[in-house]
Amino acid sequence: MDALKEAVLGVLPGVLDDLAALVRIPSVSADPAHDADLLRCAAEVARLAGELGLEVRTVSADGKPAIIARREVPGQPMVCLYAHYDVQPTGELSQWSSDPFEVDQRDGRWFGRGVADDKGGLAVHLAALRAFAGTPPVGITLFVEGEEEIGSPSLAALLAQNAASLAADVFVIADSVNWAAGVPAFTTTLRGLIDCVVEVSTLDHALHSGQYGGIVPDALTVLCRLLATLHDERGDVAIAGLVSGRGPALEYPPERLAQETGVLPGVQYLGRGPATDQIWTKPSVTVLAIDATSVAQASNTLAPSAQAKISVRLAPGDTSASAMRALRAHLEANVSWGAHVRVTDGSAGEPAVVPFEGPVAAAALAAFSDGFGVAPVFVGQGGSIPMVADFQTAFPEASILVTGVCDPDSRMHGADESLRLDDFGKACLAEALFLARLAR
Ligand SMILES: [Zn+2]
Repeated sequence: MDALKEAVLGVLPGVLDDLAALVRIPSVSADPAHDADLLRCAAEVARLAGELGLEVRTVSADGKPAIIARREVPGQPMVCLYAHYDVQPTGELSQWSSDPFEVDQRDGRWFGRGVADDKGGLAVHLAALRAFAGTPPVGITLFVEGEEEIGSPSLAALLAQNAASLAADVFVIADSVNWAAGVPAFTTTLRGLIDCVVEVSTLDHALHSGQYGGIVPDALTVLCRLLATLHDERGDVAIAGLVSGRGPALEYPPERLAQETGVLPGVQYLGRGPATDQIWTKPSVTVLAIDATSVAQASNTLAPSAQAKISVRLAPGDTSASAMRALRAHLEANVSWGAHVRVTDGSAGEPAVVPFEGPVAAAALAAFSDGFGVAPVFVGQGGSIPMVADFQTAFPEASILVTGVCDPDSRMHGADESLRLDDFGKACLAEALFLARLAR
């Protein structure tokens, strides 16, 4: 272990340089204006993989390019290390304390878009592999895709088309969140996701609200009443037919939640369950947007139609198809006053349960305990990583580990995304130790 620790420390400065260079490439998959940056980032990932002595292929299934880099070791298990090189858009630049596409170091953290999610995850793989100076003791596939932040639309096809070169005994998906600064976590449940647009209509044209208000309902009021039926009085989701479960017994103190979220004083938390159940193993509903007349444009009229986009996070054990049926049935059944309602399905991603058991899990537990100096915690994730379900479907025999470099302060997807450097080094060591323990 000491030799490997030395080796990891030795490669860290170079890995951090490469991470900084990757952050400088604005590989925003959601914005076609950045398509060239995605190609540039994919080329850089391919170059870095080539330096590791792996056999590198750049592949695509009519989506963004992905890199598959492989090296087999006869008689040894095959380990596939997954990360994604695409990033979320920056959002409002004024919300950032420094340039999102330039690394800035403050208080032991690196700030920048993708520094944690998930170029940081990729950098952990690079560090773990470099620590073995080109000869890791197990077979390795480095798999880095470029469309995770838009829901990995072509991943299932990529997995099918490249099944032979991706097949592995163990998958390490470094794209999740640790429990706390300094405390690693293995993610064992992930919520799924569906969304839809619901449109309600009451009139075939707008009317004067003085002339007909009081007898003819306006569509925006109908929409608000409908949206209000999605939760009960305590804030639990009120859509019949959605799966709801119990999570691990972990204390998530209200003060921690307040500090992490910035919830305003006096605002209550939703639902009846423990906090971890509310965010990991029960469904949640969010109204993402409403199309209606803006306040600036308002006139005294009855709106003939209005629409909203609704997103539902699905509990582990649910399916997107069944949840979409339940959501549609709820919306159609709860519209007031006979208004017309039209529901248009949106995107869908499956939830996942990731079993943590057997010798691979034992090796991971030992390696991450040694790497971080504390025992890992088992957590769920409220967010969705639909590709975990894709991996499970494509490689049902494999062990899957969901790890990560983010901590609760990392603000993935938000402004001032950051990576805690101390935890980054520990994650690199933990992964290297894990590879060493997997060797027969
Ligand atoms: Zn990610």
